[in-house]
Amino acid sequence: MATALAEAAREIVQVGQFLSLRNFVPATSGNFSRRLDARHAAVTRSGVDKGELTEADILALDILAPPPPGSSAETHLHLHLYRDRPHVQAVLHTHSMVSALLSQLRQAERELRLTGYELLKALGDNRTHETTISIPIFPNDQDIPRLAARVSEDLAKRPDTVAYLIAGHGLYTWGRSMAEARRHTVALEHLLTYELETMKVRR
Ligand SMILES: [Zn+2]
Repeated sequence: MATALAEAAREIVQVGQFLSLRNFVPATSGNFSRRLDARHAAVTRSGVDKGELTEADILALDILAPPPPGSSAETHLHLHLYRDRPHVQAVLHTHSMVSALLSQLRQAERELRLTGYELLKALGDNRTHETTISIPIFPNDQDIPRLAARVSEDLAKRPDTVAYLIAGHGLYTWGRSMAEARRHTVALEHLLTYELETMKVRR
């Protein structure tokens, strides 16, 4: 597992620099993880600027066990995805301005429906803009195990969903590789921006 951990840590350090440059993880916010095998994942530790991660900031942990001290406060939200969805290889959580703002503004709708955008083809296996993608919005909760249970229960009814929002907080998305999770993050940042800009125009 040492080789898998070193490779996962390299990917996480790189994605941290990429997302930090785009202002998606301000201050020490956000957290990232990578599956190592059927039973283990690598997760960022808490309290570190995600643009300045080193391999020492990446912890290996058991996806079936309680997160160890020092791992990100939101580790539960990563682990349930690895448990619930065996194909998930990477999970990225960002706190960008648009994800926090739009999820707050649209919280009462409980989901964001995205329709007609060419960029929808960057999500999962979509092959057309002529579709509607629903991104659930969950209320923020400082009780992370409770929030993880709620998200896990809701996502069980949405097997094709590749992302969700936490109101006033940020975005979670995942992929079958780190590259796919990164593509989802960037595409969703643009799609959320389209929605926020449309709201301004329609005021
Ligand atoms: Zn967060």
